[in-house]
Amino acid sequence: MSKRDILLRKPAPAYGRLREGAWERAEAFAEEYKAFLDAGKTERNCVREAVLQAEKRGYARLAPGTAQTHFYAERHGKALILVRTGTKPAAAGLRIVAAHIDSPRIDLKPYPLYEKDGFALFKTHYYGGIKKYHWLTAPLELRGVVYLRDGTAVSIAPAENEPVLFISDVLPHLGKEQEKKAVSEAFPGESLNVTVGTVPDREEAGGPAPGDERIKLAVLSLLNRRYGMTEHDFQSAELCLVPAGRARDAGLDASMIAAYGQDDRSCAYAAMRALFDAPEPEYTGVCILADKEEIGSEGVTGMQSAFFDTVLEGVCLSQGGTLRECYQNSFCFSGDVTNAFDPNFPDVSDPQNNARLGYGPCVMKATGRGGKSGSSDASAETMSRTRRLLDGADVCWQMGELGKVDAGGGGTVAKYLAMRNIEVVDVGVPVLNMHAPTEVTAKIDCFETYRAFAALYNDR
Ligand code: MN
Ligand code: MN
Repeated sequence: MSKRDILLRKPAPAYGRLREGAWERAEAFAEEYKAFLDAGKTERNCVREAVLQAEKRGYARLAPGTAQTHFYAERHGKALILVRTGTKPAAAGLRIVAAHIDSPRIDLKPYPLYEKDGFALFKTHYYGGIKKYHWLTAPLELRGVVYLRDGTAVSIAPAENEPVLFISDVLPHLGKEQEKKAVSEAFPGESLNVTVGTVPDREEAGGPAPGDERIKLAVLSLLNRRYGMTEHDFQSAELCLVPAGRARDAGLDASMIAAYGQDDRSCAYAAMRALFDAPEPEYTGVCILADKEEIGSEGVTGMQSAFFDTVLEGVCLSQGGTLRECYQNSFCFSGDVTNAFDPNFPDVSDPQNNARLGYGPCVMKATGRGGKSGSSDASAETMSRTRRLLDGADVCWQMGELGKVDAGGGGTVAKYLAMRNIEVVDVGVPVLNMHAPTEVTAKIDCFETYRAFAALYNDR
C-alpha cells in the first residue's frame, strides 16, 4: 500500500462498495419503507402500523408480572417502545435506538371552522419548523382523532379518492407586494387557512342570506354524517393536515424516495426493522418511537417523558436490577435525520463536513446551534465505540454536521437520553428538502441506516 492509501481518507458513495445482492436488498427494503410511510402519515398512524407489524412478529402488549421476551407499550397511541430481551440481564445495559415519529404539519386550531366570502375554512396553527410557503397550494388531507361528548373516539382519515384540501396563495400576476416582503413576513401564521367548502346547506328553509353561515353549516352536517361530531367536539380533537398522496420513487434512476415525513420515519422504520430482524441479541434491544421531537420533545409522549423510564424500570425490576445501573451500562443511537449537501444551495454547508446523499447514515458527534448550544456532544470514547461497531459490521457511513457553524442549527432527542446517563450519539439518514411537504432520501442510505441499527442490536 502506498503512503497515500494508508494516510488519506477517501470518501466514497455507498454504491461504489456494495456487496453481492446488496442493491437488490436495498430496493426491497425501500418498497417496504414506502408502504410504512403511506400507512404512517401521523404519529398515531405510525404507532398503529408499528404495533401491527410487531404483533405479526410475536410481540405482545406489555403485561407486567408475566415473563415476556418480545413486548411493546404505547402512550396515548402516539409514542411507542418496543423491547426484545437479550440473553444478558437488563442491568448489563440496553441497546437502544430512539427515533421520532412526529413530523412538521398543519394542526387545526381549537375552534377551527368559519365562513368568509363564500368559503368555509379551517383556521390552523402550524406544528414544527416549517417554511410556510411550502404548504401553500399543496394538496392536503385531514387526519387525527375526535373524542365525542360521551368519550367515544372516532379516528379521522381520508377514504380512497378523498377530495384534497388546500391553502390558497396569491397568483403571480398580483404578487408584486408579496414579492417585496421578506419570506419571514410574507406568510403570517394567521393566513394559513384551509379551504374546505363552498356550497351552502340545502336543508334549511329559504335561500341563503349573507351572514347566515350556511356553508359552515353544510360542512358541519357533512362531518356529522361521517363522524357523528358537532362543532363542540373540536374541543376534544387532535386534527391536522398532512400532504396528500403516497411515497414514490424519485430520480430518473429511481435511486431516491420522495415522500412526506421522512424526518424522522426513515430512522424510525430502520430502527423498528433492525430490532425485528436481530437474531438472538445478547443485550436487551429497545426501539423508542417518540412523539413531539419537532416541538422540543415535550409532553407525556415526548422523549422527556417518564413514560419510557416507567416501562424500562419495570423490565429492570423484574430482572432484579435497577434502572439507573441499566442506563449507565446502555448504549444508544439517537436515530434522526440530517441535511444532505444540496448542490442548489451549497452556501449553507461546509462541503467537507456535511452529509452527502448516497454515502450512508451520517454520524453526528454534535448537533445544536452556534457554539454547539443544546447538543449533548458525544465524547471521543463514544465515537470510538461507534466507529468500531459500524466498521465491524461493514456499514458504509459518514460523519457530518448540520450545515455551516453559524447558518442555523437543530437538535435531536440525543440530549434527553444523555440526561439519563445513557451513552448516546446521533446516527441518521441524510435528507434533502427537510421539513418540506416532500422530503427526499436515497434508498441506499435508508438501507445502510437499517444496517447500522442492526449492528447496534447485534452488539456482542
Ligand atoms: Mn428529526
Ligand atoms: Mn425535524
